[in-house]
Amino acid sequence: MSEKFIPLTDYRQREQTLTVPDRLIEPDGQLKDSLHRPLHDLRISVTDRCNFRCVYCMPKEVFDKNYRFLPQTSLLSFEEITRVARIFVAHGVKKIRLTGGEPLLRKNIEKLIEMLTKLKASDGSDIDLTLTTNGSLLARKAQGLRDAGLSRVTVSLDSMNDATFKQMNDVDFPVSDVLDGIDAAHRAGLGPIKVNMVVKAGLNDSEIIPMARYFKATPHILRFIEYMDVGASNGWKLNEVIPSAKVIQILNDAGLSLLPTQANYAGETAERWRYLDGNGEVGVISSVTQTFCHECSRARLSTEGKLYTCLFATHGHDLRSLLRDEHHLHSDLAISNVIAQLWKKRSDRYSELRSQQTEELIKSRKKIEMSYIGG
Ligand code: SAM
Ligand code: SF4
Ligand code: SF4
Repeated sequence: MSEKFIPLTDYRQREQTLTVPDRLIEPDGQLKDSLHRPLHDLRISVTDRCNFRCVYCMPKEVFDKNYRFLPQTSLLSFEEITRVARIFVAHGVKKIRLTGGEPLLRKNIEKLIEMLTKLKASDGSDIDLTLTTNGSLLARKAQGLRDAGLSRVTVSLDSMNDATFKQMNDVDFPVSDVLDGIDAAHRAGLGPIKVNMVVKAGLNDSEIIPMARYFKATPHILRFIEYMDVGASNGWKLNEVIPSAKVIQILNDAGLSLLPTQANYAGETAERWRYLDGNGEVGVISSVTQTFCHECSRARLSTEGKLYTCLFATHGHDLRSLLRDEHHLHSDLAISNVIAQLWKKRSDRYSELRSQQTEELIKSRKKIEMSYIGG
């Protein structure tokens, strides 16, 4: 039997040294990047580990027993995460999403939620705190998350069909357990619940209609996500992407007629469509065919404290080195100014540029994994 080798370089290690500006300025919550995009949204990856091996995210042949996940000491502590989050909030962040890996695998995540819910925006309003999960531990944890102050959750589910779902999560996890998790989250008041379905051609596109029918009869909002070229290990091909426009057409053809409706806020990633019969809505996230870089206001904090200004960035900025400086040289204001400096320089718009590139060029870009940076 011939062995299969997938060459992997550890792009997590690539970074540049951060410098604190000489003149420190108090944050005014109005930070803009070089393309005039504000900083509104922070995604925090709390673990790079996961109990699933979704074929489009953490394929088994790469994330196997030899894969080097981050050691516990590399992870930002809850105090460190809260400190950075507080600094980001002062810069204008109003929404924080906990993600991973699988965030519910992080021990005592409820404690972190309690700490983050105490943060207030500069105008005194609450921060919109949410979490994306594969749902596997939600039946057990939903009430505790709610009690800790979490307002809502997004649950990933790619199929209603057990065989297809198991083929996608690759760990034999049944649909019914995720549905139990969604029910528990609903009972605990963690709503409105959004359900994310990544659509991959030839794998689960036959599940578009069953998923829509099932969730139409619930208060939850199903969102179809175009399969993206994140990371370096999922072997992405353009012809495996089902464009959102096709998803809408498939639903219309099945009698599930939809009309476009207004976004909830500027910069919302999902385009909203409501059913013509007035019962419910779906969302489509067209990261490949209809890019939304021009209004992207998201920053990402990796599990080990690196700041990424784009999901497709090839390197991060090591904030942990400032947080853990043994001489305590870096005040919150110093770190705030480092972040401001990075955001002001930001010019990322990978998805817009992708459409101008060949598939070979797209695949050759050295991207970091979604499980590390957080979705
Ligand atoms: N483990 C959690 C989960 O699955 O919900 C949170 C982390 S996961 C990386 C966040 C989201 O990214 C999930 O909804 C997942 O389906 C999505 N995702 C992962 N890889 C993707 C890809 N290649 N294209 C599009 N979405 C992807
Ligand atoms: Fe895990 Fe989420 Fe990635 Fe699936 S999509 S492998 S559940 S991190
Ligand atoms: Fe934002 Fe980068 Fe995605 Fe564009 S490609 S929407 S800049 S994360």
